[in-house]
Amino acid sequence: MYLYNSLTRKKEEVVPNEPGKFSMYTCGPTVYHFAHIGNLRTYIMEDILEKYLRYTGLDVTRVMNITDVGHLTSDGDTGDDKMLKGAKREHKTVMEIAKFYTDAFFADCAKLNIKTPDVVVPATSYIDEFIRVISALMEKGYAYEAGGNIYFDTSKLKEYYVFGDVSEDDLAVGVREGVEADDNKRNKADFVLWFTKSKFDDQELKWESPWGVGYPGWHIECSCISMKNLGERLDLHCGGIDNQFPHHTNEIAQSEAYLGHKWCNYWFHVHHLNTSDGKMSKSKGEFMTVSLLEEKGYDPIVYRFFCLNSHYRKSLTFDWENLDNARNTFDKLIGRIAAIAKESMGTPNEERFAELEQAFDNALGNDLNTAQAVTVLYDVLKADISRAQKIQLIREFDEVLGLDLMKHAEAKIKAEQEAASDIPAEIQALVDERAAARKAKDFAKADELRDKITALGWVIEETRQGTKVHRK
Ligand code: AMP
Ligand code: ZN
Repeated sequence: MYLYNSLTRKKEEVVPNEPGKFSMYTCGPTVYHFAHIGNLRTYIMEDILEKYLRYTGLDVTRVMNITDVGHLTSDGDTGDDKMLKGAKREHKTVMEIAKFYTDAFFADCAKLNIKTPDVVVPATSYIDEFIRVISALMEKGYAYEAGGNIYFDTSKLKEYYVFGDVSEDDLAVGVREGVEADDNKRNKADFVLWFTKSKFDDQELKWESPWGVGYPGWHIECSCISMKNLGERLDLHCGGIDNQFPHHTNEIAQSEAYLGHKWCNYWFHVHHLNTSDGKMSKSKGEFMTVSLLEEKGYDPIVYRFFCLNSHYRKSLTFDWENLDNARNTFDKLIGRIAAIAKESMGTPNEERFAELEQAFDNALGNDLNTAQAVTVLYDVLKADISRAQKIQLIREFDEVLGLDLMKHAEAKIKAEQEAASDIPAEIQALVDERAAARKAKDFAKADELRDKITALGWVIEETRQGTKVHRK
């Protein structure tokens, strides 16, 4: 597979550290609220990447954290803890909030066919590990204590801004007006590994540490959870594009300082889903959740299909009209798959079958071109191969695309059969009689029977799939 690597800013062939195996780390949700469909775009595209890597035969191990402590409302170590804010909003404890929204997150993922990673670790369960790594960073001279907090010293690194397109000025991003810079920092880019003296002293969850009672910073959790579960050399790390800086930049800084060597080879970043009036948000405008899609009558899989039709490295604009278009296209696609059941058996064509399989592989193997992969699916529908071969390819492709294509098609066929079986015997008898008259070219009689059927409140329609009858 060739994948764009944000670290080298090039498309590169993906070569695992250990042949046949693949380690993948994903930044998980901050569980202070429901995920919005923007967050879920990132998880959908990561899910397809994981499933494609498995499809190519790799034995993937995927790990995800759950941020239930330490993520401040600004990425720049300022502002309230997001979890605490959520707890206050809902008059619950932080742990109650974390449990509720973790469950809600995985319920949304299930509806979108996003597989749960092999290992899921809540940050609060790894406090000893964070303390161990921070202590080692202190010993190695990469961290210092100031004003009661432990900071990472970015000046100790040869290169800190590894993703290239950010600079010190970007640190101002997220630091709201009226929030003074942290005087404890030796360098503007330094970041907190452990807080004991925060401006927000009403923090609910705190732990003992060699530096006093406190709580971890956000970035250290992903480094520790990844290294503990996936070892010193990680194949791929993924997240939304906003994670690139400062979160992933800081993860690399502290992990490589701790390990003394390169940590992760490939970085996969999904660009944002925006609304037509700007950034998707949990607080302003309509809060776009999976439940909202369902309330409005959309099958969540239609949203997955909508995401598949654009490249993950382009930002995507969401509006209801675009989603309606995706729903119509998806319905037609399912209709065409359902119609395969009525086709003749056809003749197998091994060569064409292999070509289609290869085309699908080429699409996803070229920087996860999901839209192209969907195009190959349409090619299968019209290909000159047998019916069984078509169904086999649809099933194979859907292992990666995750659209439940056969399930939807079977449901459609069943619904049609049920609708047909609703037809009273008396009407069915007239329909059959009319078919016989047409066959015998007795069109006068056929027309007469049609009028009779119409008068009884039923409509006859000639379609490509044959005669259909339904209520007026
Ligand atoms: P959070 O729960 O805020 O930690 O974010 C969860 C994931 O969603 C992270 O990987 C973010 O980078 C990603 N994300 C946040 N906003 C968006 C968006 N509008 N579109 C796509 N991904 C997003
Ligand atoms: Zn992370």
